[in-house]
This record gives sequence, C-alpha cells and structure tokens, in this order.
Amino acid sequence: MTLILAATSTNAPEMSVILFAGIILFVTAGYALACWVRPFTLCSRCDGTGTSADRGLTDRLRHRRPVRPRAPRGRRDCPRCRGTGLRLRIGRRLHNHFARLHRNSRR
Ligand SMILES: [Zn+2]
Repeated sequence: MTLILAATSTNAPEMSVILFAGIILFVTAGYALACWVRPFTLCSRCDGTGTSADRGLTDRLRHRRPVRPRAPRGRRDCPRCRGTGLRLRIGRRLHNHFARLHRNSRR
C-alpha cells in the first residue's frame, strides 16, 4: 500500500504535465474545428450589424432609452469589417496565411 502511494506521488507531477498538455491539445483541436466549421464570427466592434455602433451605444448608455439601430444620419459602415458584420477568426486567418505561404513556396 505504501509502495503504491509512493509511486503515485512521484508520478503525480509528470501526470499533471501530461494532463495539462492534453487539455491544451484538446482546446486547440476544438478551436481549430470551430475555425474549420465556422470561419467567420461576428464583428466585435459592431456586433454583426455592419454599421458603426459607437454612437448608438453611447446614446443608449447616456439616455437609457432605445435608439433606432439604423438611423439614416450618422450611419456608416463599420471600419473594422467594412459593413459586412463578419470577421475572420484569428485561427482561420493564421491558417489562410500559412496555406498561402505553402502554396507560394511550391512554385
Ligand atoms: Zn464591424
């Protein structure tokens, strides 16, 4: 009994490292899968509306009343996503970058 306990205690740090690496691998694989299935995500700046939401947000916070989301005045395309409301995930952008490098290196 004491022998088993001693063995597990000496193995414990090693096992935790393996477990940690496994968790990182799992999370990375999950993120890669998410980037594969859904390469686009909502733009964080305009929340997918495609218009610059800075003004509406500050109005909402200041006056605490609903502001028309698509007011004709002051509405312009979100500079970050250029009005699409979508943004490429960072992982997908990296994937595209390396895929392009690989493609260019072969010719
Ligand atoms: Zn945007």
